[in-house]
Amino acid sequence: MKWTYASSYQCDGCKRMFPLRNNKITTCTHCGELLEVRYDLNTMKQDIDKNTFKQRKKSIWRWHEFLPLHDEKNIISLGEGDTPLVPSIYIGKKLGLKNLYLKNDTLMPTGSFKDRGFSLALSFARELGVTQGLTYSSGNAGVSFAAYSQRGEMNAAVLIEYLANPLKKALIQLCGGQSIVLHYESMEDITMMLEEASRKLNLYQFVNFINPIRHEAMKTYAYEITEALDWKSPDYMVHPVGTGGGLYGTWKGFLELNELGWIDKLPKMAAVQPEATGPHVKAFNKGQHVVEKTGDPSKTMAQSISADSAIKDGRRVLNALYDSEGLAEAVKEAEIVEAMNDLGKEGIIADPASAATVASLKKLTNKSLIPSDSTIVCVITGSGLKQPKAIESHFNEETKNINADFKELTKILTDI
Ligand SMILES: [Zn+2]
Repeated sequence: MKWTYASSYQCDGCKRMFPLRNNKITTCTHCGELLEVRYDLNTMKQDIDKNTFKQRKKSIWRWHEFLPLHDEKNIISLGEGDTPLVPSIYIGKKLGLKNLYLKNDTLMPTGSFKDRGFSLALSFARELGVTQGLTYSSGNAGVSFAAYSQRGEMNAAVLIEYLANPLKKALIQLCGGQSIVLHYESMEDITMMLEEASRKLNLYQFVNFINPIRHEAMKTYAYEITEALDWKSPDYMVHPVGTGGGLYGTWKGFLELNELGWIDKLPKMAAVQPEATGPHVKAFNKGQHVVEKTGDPSKTMAQSISADSAIKDGRRVLNALYDSEGLAEAVKEAEIVEAMNDLGKEGIIADPASAATVASLKKLTNKSLIPSDSTIVCVITGSGLKQPKAIESHFNEETKNINADFKELTKILTDI
């Protein structure tokens, strides 16, 4: 049995293979396209039983055979992964859905699902001997990157989206990162700038997909969820989509489980974005294979998924939606607020981007696009505690006041 069955990189474009070990490339050196990590699943199938993983210590790292790190001494971990798969009580009843689950990643070390990706990507970078890293973030990724870099004794420079709220910028500094506010016209400007920084400054960078490692950790959603459902795939996986690393990585995880013969079917992937932008949703619903720039990111409170364009035309995310016969839905701001309230009634304090998944479910069930007996998982990717204004400005009914007096207490309780 090997520690990892990761074997090589393969280019999305020209299909050339590259060595994975001791190789600092992030995109194809021949054609510039994105790189994908490949695994020797045939050997893995002979070596490992799917029940092996359950006995291990809880973390994304109990799935190390599926991750591209070679030496466990390089692991940088804060206890990420293995978050609860919460069966819905309130929302399921409200929408008439019998088997709705909420994957609660608000409980991750820095309060978002980004910790899965950065635990792996920073560990991998440490294995490569990287000492300084760069990423672009709408907030959550920056905080996670700063925290994990510090744990790995690396310098973290975060180019933070100009629309990100002040708390997220402060949290990056709190965790020891350098936060630089970034103004830009399109996602392409950012990727071109970062590619140049990689070439000319020899900086290893961590932007989703341009970094070929981060989304590999998102495969752990597929493993954790199917294991929790007794190795049955859900019918639908509903993801908020910014760059789409979460949705795409999860889909890749399901494809691997399917290739290993550990699951009997693949789920349909559903992408959710705000109506104010929603570039992937618009492209998919028009049947396009290229995501175009659209909308205004300042018009939505769902900061983590407010991007108006995509990395490398959004091809990976669109392919996952087409290949899984999936769905894409855009949601209004008021629908997001209602869904935040619904999640609150489940005991989950979600950020607007995560709540968008629940908002989309209401629309998809109303349109009869999701049958009521389906097994559905909404991925709740980030904590609302990092966007306090989104909560304070919408949930601010005047609270009742009383003196510490039994009669006043009785009166107010009987009035409710
Ligand atoms: Zn290539």
